[in-house]
Amino acid sequence: LTFLGIESSCDDTAAAVVRSDGTIMASVVEGQTALHAAFGGVVPEIAARAHAERLDTCVEQALTQAGLALTDLDGIAVTAGPGLIGGVLSGVMLAKGLALATGLPMVGVNHLAGHALTPRLTDGLKFPYLMLLVSGGHCQFLRVDGVDRFTRLGGSIDDAPGEAFDKVAKILALPQPGGPSVQAEAALGDAKRFPLPRPLLDRPGCDMSFSGLKTAVLRLRDTCMTGLGGLRAQDRRDICAAFQGAVADVLTEKTRRALLTCPDATALAVAGGVAANVEIRARLTALCNELDLRFLAPPLALCTDNAAMIAWAGIERFQSGALDGMELVARPRWPLDQTAPALIGSGK
Ligand code: ATP
Ligand code: FE
Repeated sequence: LTFLGIESSCDDTAAAVVRSDGTIMASVVEGQTALHAAFGGVVPEIAARAHAERLDTCVEQALTQAGLALTDLDGIAVTAGPGLIGGVLSGVMLAKGLALATGLPMVGVNHLAGHALTPRLTDGLKFPYLMLLVSGGHCQFLRVDGVDRFTRLGGSIDDAPGEAFDKVAKILALPQPGGPSVQAEAALGDAKRFPLPRPLLDRPGCDMSFSGLKTAVLRLRDTCMTGLGGLRAQDRRDICAAFQGAVADVLTEKTRRALLTCPDATALAVAGGVAANVEIRARLTALCNELDLRFLAPPLALCTDNAAMIAWAGIERFQSGALDGMELVARPRWPLDQTAPALIGSGK
C-alpha cells in the first residue's frame, strides 16, 4: 500500500508519501516559525491562512519527490485533530477534495496517534509499548496496545516541557526555540549549584508539572541579576543546567513509574521535539539499561511534526479496517483514549 499523508494541525504544513513496508518515499515539512516570530507564539489565524495557502504545493512536492501521481496511491491519510481548528480544517477539506476527485479511500488520523505509532514505522516495534510524548504542546505517557488502543497513564497538568524550555529561554534572553539554546548553555553549567524543585515527584502516579520550574527560574534570575551588568554568563549557564536537570529528573522518575504499570512493554519509545534533548535522552537510556528494556528514539525529523507519521498511521488504521467518508470531522480536541468509532459520524 502507498498512502499520502497530510498534516496541518499546528505550525507545520506537511505532506508525505509512505509505503506499508515502511519506506518513506517523500516527506515535505514547511515550518511557519518565521511567520509567527514577531508575535512570540503561534497565531492561529496566521497559521490557518498559511496552511490553506501552502498545503496544495506541499502535496504536489511530496508526489513529485516520490515520483508518483495521485492515481498511483492507495489511500489518503489526514490529521483530523487535535490542534488549531483552522489548520485541521484545511487539511481535512483538502483530503476530502482529493478523495472525491480520485475515489481513493480516506482515513482520518489523530495527530497524537501519528506520534505514538512512529516507532512502528521506523523500527517495526511490537505492541504493547510505552510512549513518552514530550513536545512544545504535549506531555503524556501512553501505553500503546494496538493501532487504536491507547491508554493515557498521566502527563503534565500544566505546561509541556518544550513550552517550559521556550519560556526559560525567554526569561534568560536566549534565542528561540528554547530547547536547543538552553541545552547548549546547560552543557557549560553546573546543575548542582542552584537547587530547583522536582514538582509532583512526592505524589504517586505519572502526572507532572513544569510551570512551577519556570517561575523558580524567573526568581533565580532576579536573585542573580547584577544591576547594570545583567546576568553573568556563568550564572545563566548554571541556571540552565539546574532547570534541564530538574526536567530530566522528573521525566525519568515518572517514566520509571509508568513502566512499572507496563511490565509487558517491549520498549520505551519517545517522540516530540524535547526527545532531542541530550540530557533527557541519556537519563532515559540509563533507566532502560537499568531495567533491561529497549529504548527507542526515532530520528528527530520523525519525532517532530511531520506527515510521514500521519501517512503511516493511516495505513495502519486502514489495514485494521478503518475508513472515513465525507462526514469526517475536524476536531480541535480529541483525547487519544477515545477510540476510533467516535471519529465516524457527525461529531455530535
Ligand atoms: P506539538 O508537536 O506538540 O504540537 P510543537 O510543534 O511545539 O508541539 P515539536 O515540534 O515536537 O513540538 O517540538 C518543539 C519543541 O521542542 C520546542 O518547544 C523546543 O524548544 C523543544 N526542543 C527542541 N529541541 C530541544 C532540546 N534539545 N531540548 C529541549 N527541548 C527541545
Ligand atoms: Fe506534534
